[in-house]
Amino acid sequence: MKKYNFSAGPATLPQEVLKEVKEELLDYNKLGYSVLEMSHRSKDFESIIEGAKDEIRKLANIGPDYDVLFLQGGASSQFAMVPMNLMVNGKADYLVTGNWAKKAYEEALKFGDIKVLKSSEKDNFTYIPDLTDLDIRDDSDYIYMTENNTIYGTEYKEIPDVKGKILVNDASSNIFSRPMDINKFGLVFAGAQKNLGPAGVTLVIVRKDLVGKKDMSNYPTMFNYEIHANKKSMYNTPPTFSIYVLGKVVKWINDLGGLEKIGDHNSRKADLIYDFLDQSKIFVPVARKDSRSRMNVVFKTESSELDSEFIDLAAREGLVGLKGYRSLGGMRASIYNAMPYEGVKKLVDFMEDFERKRIG
Ligand SMILES: *Cc1c(COP(=O)(O)O)cnc(C)c1O
Repeated sequence: MKKYNFSAGPATLPQEVLKEVKEELLDYNKLGYSVLEMSHRSKDFESIIEGAKDEIRKLANIGPDYDVLFLQGGASSQFAMVPMNLMVNGKADYLVTGNWAKKAYEEALKFGDIKVLKSSEKDNFTYIPDLTDLDIRDDSDYIYMTENNTIYGTEYKEIPDVKGKILVNDASSNIFSRPMDINKFGLVFAGAQKNLGPAGVTLVIVRKDLVGKKDMSNYPTMFNYEIHANKKSMYNTPPTFSIYVLGKVVKWINDLGGLEKIGDHNSRKADLIYDFLDQSKIFVPVARKDSRSRMNVVFKTESSELDSEFIDLAAREGLVGLKGYRSLGGMRASIYNAMPYEGVKKLVDFMEDFERKRIG
């Protein structure tokens, strides 16, 4: 049976990409061995990594004033690398809109004086706070945001005005899912395993003038952006296979027509499921309407028993990975770039059917 995987990450990858990987796996580029076994110092790998960067630059229209880095340690390592590298005055202002944002904030506290600009924690992170007139400190080094909140299913509708300050964005769960203006950011990062490829690589796009701005001689080498930029992400052995697949996923988006196209595709999927939820008598969407994520749709029924029953029955129909985040319960349908419209359609049909059988 064809299954649709709604897992939040590692998540669904495009079938086309997986097939290509399968075809190339045993014998890459007629070399007689696999890309998994290839030296990262080889010509072939060099063209894989540079090719992946080129696809990214093309997709998001990233100019020569930005570095594109492939790092390790997950998005979570960026929670520390960002303050380590960018905090020159020892101050930063954070927008706390979910668990990941909170973790980033708590990590930053180890490095300096951190202010919470806005938080929706009191209301269980069900919305993105009002972003007009942010009370940014004059001497703060950067403003930090998490554009899509994977666990709570909320997403910024617009990028806040930070009055010319450096804006850092954790876009792990919505990067390249709609048009983005990279020039609004000093740094954008994303763990690959949601929207870009397999786990193991983290994409960091950073404005060049922010790299090497601070004396990093007392910091671990691996946490220094400048080292990675100078060494073209090959200071040490990079996660070669993950980069190879990521390059193919980004090319897949370019071939589809780029960010406008994928953005339309993602909006159609999200509209389908939210339109259903808005009129449903047993399923309730969790995020506030004006803050809904197009990537992670979080919903529940009136009881955790009914939630479990739904999740089990859905799995039997080939709709897997719908269980909500551990501490939150309920359901979460992650519908990233690679989730086809048909997958969402099948989910909504199944929800309709489930509802009909319960309330007639
Ligand atoms: C998943 C996720 C993370 C953590 O990613 P790791 O690669 O597991 O460290 C951070 N931020 C956001 C927004 C996420 O969705």
